[in-house]
Amino acid sequence: MPELAGLGPDALVELDVSRLRALLAASRAPLKSFLLDQKRIAGLGNIYVCEALFRARLHPGTPARRATGRAAALLRAIRATLRVALSNRGTSMRDFVDSEGRRGENASALLVYGREREPCRACGATLCRSLDSGRSTFFCPRCQRR
Ligand SMILES: [Zn+2]
Repeated sequence: MPELAGLGPDALVELDVSRLRALLAASRAPLKSFLLDQKRIAGLGNIYVCEALFRARLHPGTPARRATGRAAALLRAIRATLRVALSNRGTSMRDFVDSEGRRGENASALLVYGREREPCRACGATLCRSLDSGRSTFFCPRCQRR
């Protein structure tokens, strides 16, 4: 399948801790863009990346190569996030929010995405949103320190 040749390992079935650690170590990108890059890891969109970084308690702007020691936690967080998405009767997380980040009825499954200025479910701090090349990043300033 030549059209798939440029893709990295699939986040749910092909990625393991040692592979993730090696990919992190080889990258100069911040974690957010690292995880969104389909050439490194396939299958993670913007919503999944925000949710997985929150679960792993990693700041989206942390350089990927400085997170190698957290590879196992990050992989667990990615899998937990994708499992939630799949268990929701196959509904994509994309369907939880519209393009403006407003939430639909399934939004209770989301921990940070679309929850700007709402309290963090883990610590109660007010959640933040930052905008980078037209894409929103949602995170907790207390749980996800740089
Ligand atoms: Zn928090």
